[in-house]
Amino acid sequence: MADYSMKFRPDADDNLIYSCSSGPHSTLHTAEHVLLSCLLLKDARARFFGPNTNLPHLPHILGTEAGGRQLCDFIHATQVLLCPLPPRPNPP
Ligand SMILES: [Zn+2]
Repeated sequence: MADYSMKFRPDADDNLIYSCSSGPHSTLHTAEHVLLSCLLLKDARARFFGPNTNLPHLPHILGTEAGGRQLCDFIHATQVLLCPLPPRPNPP
């Protein structure tokens, strides 16, 4: 996750860009991006935070027991916020 790498591993040369981004306008793989807007995780968000919305609300996720459980299930199933991203492949 970009937040973690930038704060605690700034010299590790971790990959900060998720596979949803390409080209000059890359999006950092931050917790906010993963939870609120990553297109690759749209189905997982709907599955764990509810089918009626694509945008879970951070106050619900972080401020309620139900939201915390949903977040844990989402993280466990997707594994997207648990470790630095693997290196990006070199361009051909
Ligand atoms: Zn993304």
